[in-house]
Amino acid sequence: MSTNSSQTASRISTFVFMVVLAVYALSIVAIGLAVSLYGSSEQPFVWIWMLILGLVSITLATYVLLQSRRHVTSMKLVTPQVMTTIECRKCAIKNVREFQRGDYVYKELEKCQKCDDKQIITAIYKEVKEKEKTYPF
Ligand SMILES: [Zn+2]
Repeated sequence: MSTNSSQTASRISTFVFMVVLAVYALSIVAIGLAVSLYGSSEQPFVWIWMLILGLVSITLATYVLLQSRRHVTSMKLVTPQVMTTIECRKCAIKNVREFQRGDYVYKELEKCQKCDDKQIITAIYKEVKEKEKTYPF
């Protein structure tokens, strides 16, 4: 069940997108009707309701679209960061910074600030955040 959770998520967002498109189409029809009914003396207020219906539908559809997009971006932020640990062998100073392209374990870096010995990368790892541990999938 948990193996294809990402597939299910994309299927749901496609479904939401189709519904939003359908709502957009319906609201355009409603606004078109409102325009065509505008000024007809037989039903003087129907066009106003049609216009309100169309505008409310467009607003709701846009809101749903923005919500689903924000959900996707917030999911991206959860991806764990890769960290690099830098150590000086002489004075045992440890520094942790974000992984940079070209980093590898035992790579020699710039000289230590205290002594003149070269610093080396001792570890590269993914930072697991607290949020991920409680993630339902
Ligand atoms: Zn040092």
